[in-house]
Amino acid sequence: MKIATQLLHSIPVDELTGAISVPIYQTSTFVQESPGINKGFEFSRANNPTRKVLENLICSLEEGHAGFAFASGMAAIDAVMKLLKTGDEIMAVEDTYGGIFQMFQHMFERFGIKANFVDTSNTDKVLAAITPNTKMIWLESPTNPTLRISDIKSISKIAKQHNILLVVDNTLCTPLLQQPMPLGADIIIHSATKYLAGHTDVIAGLVVVNSKSLADQLRFNQNISGSILSPFEAWLTIRGIETLSLRLDKQCSNAMAIATWLAAHPAVDKVFYPGLSTHKNHHIARKQQKQYGALVSFSLKNDNIKNAIRVVNATKLFKLAESFGGVKSMLDHPTTMTHRNIPEEFRKKSGLPDSCIRLSVGIEDAEDLINDLKQALDKLNLPAGKQMTVLQ
Ligand SMILES: *Cc1c(COP(=O)(O)O)cnc(C)c1O
Repeated sequence: MKIATQLLHSIPVDELTGAISVPIYQTSTFVQESPGINKGFEFSRANNPTRKVLENLICSLEEGHAGFAFASGMAAIDAVMKLLKTGDEIMAVEDTYGGIFQMFQHMFERFGIKANFVDTSNTDKVLAAITPNTKMIWLESPTNPTLRISDIKSISKIAKQHNILLVVDNTLCTPLLQQPMPLGADIIIHSATKYLAGHTDVIAGLVVVNSKSLADQLRFNQNISGSILSPFEAWLTIRGIETLSLRLDKQCSNAMAIATWLAAHPAVDKVFYPGLSTHKNHHIARKQQKQYGALVSFSLKNDNIKNAIRVVNATKLFKLAESFGGVKSMLDHPTTMTHRNIPEEFRKKSGLPDSCIRLSVGIEDAEDLINDLKQALDKLNLPAGKQMTVLQ
């Protein structure tokens, strides 16, 4: 089965009733026939039939051994971090998701697990940064918002040689655009809040692991820490995934049209989109991704916070909001919003311009979206000769 079919048909019909939509098993416990004799379910923190459908679905899409659903992407990451112990070190992609940066620096550091942030888009730097205590390499590819790409296959070879677990946060791609496990990843993370659920109405996290031993540890962490996804949120996420293929195709083609248009706009300095041949890591993205995703970031020639804020305040279709991945287009100014807790030194090191604007491209008509950006950029009052349409 191709993945677009799998999205729908890895979701079983309910055996008990024939319901074609997965039933929401809203129950905390399950009646047992005799102690230990039951239908495979005892208590919903440990296992729940609705959640299990989602866990099996993501496992099958990512070609893993087992899947787990958590109350959020951060809860999923927390459970994976608890595979480590005091004294272990983690090597993480330099421009990691803001929440992950804070979790590693301000939470796990206190428990003696040190995070080392490295530019993993350069595989040589990964090799050079390994220490005898490195137990995990943490990749996001592409990163957000500057969409840097790391070569998952080459890094997985290095990780295997050094007996290091390779974790890939696949939130930006979903298994439809990129499958890290066949490329050598051991653990995959998703914030299902983004593209998988896809309608900006749920917070959810998923983990897929590639072995029984990792599955046993993760199952223990999930049950003991208890940060599970509720049956209703699991159902919403399943329903979202059913239309992922349609949504993402449209979002990726809209994103490509917008990135191409932005690259030719006189007020725009850099466009960050791995689908453009000018992108530094375009060749790796082409090799390991099926399409280039639906996040597009850009900076302004007049690179300052004030100008970026003028633009993000002026769009009408692109709603100003944190998060991404939904059907409705949104935009964000990372420096003052999603990435404001990242120290300036790290922001600069990872090449995030002050005026960077991140677009989460939705499924609207591409021309309408471009016109919305055009009227917002027009508000910047370009120098004479480059004036565009009259201000509204
Ligand atoms: C949003 C996000 C997370 C965190 O997920 P939540 O569902 O918000 O807890 C982790 N990684 C990436 C790449 C994200 O975009």
